[in-house]
Amino acid sequence: MSIDKTRGCPICSSREASVGFPYATQFSGKKFKYFKSCACETVFVDPVPDNDTFVQMYAKDSYHDCDYDAEVGGTYQESVQLLQSYVGAGATVLDYGCGLGGFLKELSANGFVSFGVEFDVDAVDFTSKNASCTVWTADNFWSLLPKPKFDVIHLGDVLEHLPEPAEIVNEILSNLNYGGILFVEGPLETNPSPVYWVTRVYGWVKHILRPNFIAKDPPHHLFRINAPQQLKFFSNRITAPLNLKYWRVYETGWPYVEGALIKRAIAKIAIFFGGKRIINATFGNRFQAIFMKK
Ligand SMILES: [Zn+2]
Repeated sequence: MSIDKTRGCPICSSREASVGFPYATQFSGKKFKYFKSCACETVFVDPVPDNDTFVQMYAKDSYHDCDYDAEVGGTYQESVQLLQSYVGAGATVLDYGCGLGGFLKELSANGFVSFGVEFDVDAVDFTSKNASCTVWTADNFWSLLPKPKFDVIHLGDVLEHLPEPAEIVNEILSNLNYGGILFVEGPLETNPSPVYWVTRVYGWVKHILRPNFIAKDPPHHLFRINAPQQLKFFSNRITAPLNLKYWRVYETGWPYVEGALIKRAIAKIAIFFGGKRIINATFGNRFQAIFMKK
C-alpha cells in the first residue's frame, strides 16, 4: 500500500503500515497522522514532532500543570510498595521522566535515594524543590561524565512519549548497576478493553459523520501498543540481558472513569475485566514490568 509517511514503526522498525486511526491531529501548525504497523499492529504518530513542537507540548504551564494526571495509573504508593519487594531501602532510584515529582517524593518518604530527569526546564526547577532532590534536564543528564549509576531506573508513562523508545531504554540501561532493577509502567492503549473498543467505534462514527475532522490534541503519545507487543518490545529491541521478574496488566477505566454516567459505567465494566485472561488475551489498559539487569 502506498502511504505518505516519513518513518517506520518505533516498536518493531517495520516500514509497512496502514491507516491506524481515522483522523489526524493538528498541533502548533503541524499535522500528525496515525499509522498502524503491518508487522506488529502498534499505532504510531507520523511525523515525529520536531524540537519546537516538543518544547511547546511539554512546557510546564501547559502540560504538567493542566493535562498531567499525576496518578492516572494507580497510586505512587502502590508502585513504591511493589518496588520494595525487589530492593531494600537506601537504594538509589532514577525516575526518568519524573514530571512534577510525585513519585520522587513517595520514594524519598520510603527511604530510597531519589533522582529525577525531566524534559522541560521549568518543570526541572519546580520538581527539584518540590521533591527536594537532584533533578536534571534530559540534555544535562545525558552529558554527565562519568555516567551516574543507579540501583533502580523507573520509567513511568515515559516510553510512549519517546520518538525512539528502544534507543533510550538501551542507552539508560548503561546507567543501571548489574543486578539493578528496571521498573517500567505505562499505558496499553490498543489492548483489549471495553473502554478502548467504545472509543474506537466512537472514532469511526465521528469520522463517517465528519470525514474532514482534524483533532486539536497535541500528539503526546507517539505510539499505542498492546500487551504482547509491549513484551516483545522488551525481548526483541533491548540489547542488555534482562530477567523479567514481574509482569502485570490491569485496567483503570481511563479516561471514561472521569466521564459522565454511561462512560463511568463502561469504565466499571472495563475495570471488572481488567487483568483477566479471556481467549488468549489479558484485558487491561496499563502494564507494570520489573526486570533485573543480568
Ligand atoms: Zn511495529
